[in-house]
Amino acid sequence: MLILHEMFASLQGEGPHTGRPAFFIRLSGCVPPLCPWCDTKVAWADGEKISVDALLAAVERSGHRFVVITGGEPLRQWETGLHELDAALFDAGVEVQYETSGKVPIPAGIRGEVICSPKYLSGVWHVDPVSLSRAHHLKFVACEETVSEIDAFVSDHALNLDRVWLMPKGMHREEQIARLPFVWDHCVKKGYRLASRLHILAFDTKKGI
Ligand code: SF4
Repeated sequence: MLILHEMFASLQGEGPHTGRPAFFIRLSGCVPPLCPWCDTKVAWADGEKISVDALLAAVERSGHRFVVITGGEPLRQWETGLHELDAALFDAGVEVQYETSGKVPIPAGIRGEVICSPKYLSGVWHVDPVSLSRAHHLKFVACEETVSEIDAFVSDHALNLDRVWLMPKGMHREEQIARLPFVWDHCVKKGYRLASRLHILAFDTKKGI
């Protein structure tokens, strides 16, 4: 059994698959420390219990062949059902992308592509070293105050720049737009990739997009 917050069809608004049609499965709950700026606080609380079979049926009904599994922190439910869903979607030929903070280790043998977004809180990076080695891509929320910490983190862990994405901090459209040029320039300077938040640019603060 998994604990689900919501599921819906949309476009992926962030990261390497930006603009790609996708079926989203947002699982409930996160792991501490919780981020004060979190834009999915509604997913922290318990949600609806749902079986792997019911989720598979929902994906099938959606007609989508690309599924984004997000949260909260989806990987906290790996042992309680997510590993079964991962295998079942793989067997069904459905492509999967996970979005994780990396606060819990990315499991060995996970079949989907994993985008890890490490969190910097109270002067400390909260990411498991195993997650750093297993993530396919690393996505950092960037602003004027955090880019030097991101640069140091990337350098300290000798991360492959081709795996590093910066995403402008901002939960509102105006904040995204205002910060894009700064993050753009920083990506040019450092050789990172840029990942804006298309759903915020399109719909501002509207949820369930
Ligand atoms: S890890 Fe993600 S979901 Fe959890 S509190 Fe932080 S931003 Fe929110």
